[in-house]
Amino acid sequence: MSTDNCLFCKILEGEIPAELIYESDTAVAFRDINPQAPIHALVIPRKHISTINDIDVDDEAIIGSLYSAARHIAAEEGIADEGYRAVMNCNEGAGQSVFHIHLHVLGGRRLDWPPG
Ligand code: 5GP
Ligand code: ZN
Repeated sequence: MSTDNCLFCKILEGEIPAELIYESDTAVAFRDINPQAPIHALVIPRKHISTINDIDVDDEAIIGSLYSAARHIAAEEGIADEGYRAVMNCNEGAGQSVFHIHLHVLGGRRLDWPPG
């Protein structure tokens, strides 16, 4: 999908509202519109990358920054010690529905493993 038609690029550009909870030079996070846990944030890179399969070797610092964002959010939301999950789905078979990569940060309840 192109950047023009991308929901999360539209959120980055302020065309679609979202509750932003974190911003850095490379990453932005906002609350998921359909939360699957008491805390459910989405961390996205400012750069449009469609799936994990499209991550370039030059993007490694950007990807690292998504985890720094997750750590910051977990601390801010008070779930760092009890535990949380930071997970990224790749392609439809794994449940990806928005094709701009995003790290789900889920916490505030017991999270079972393996996921469905
Ligand atoms: P995926 O299924 O691609 O791993 O995750 C996409 C996530 O984006 C879903 O959890 C879904 O609830 C969330 N989402 C879809 N549309 C919007 C939206 O317009 N705003 C926000 N904040 N989240 C959205
Ligand atoms: Zn995008």
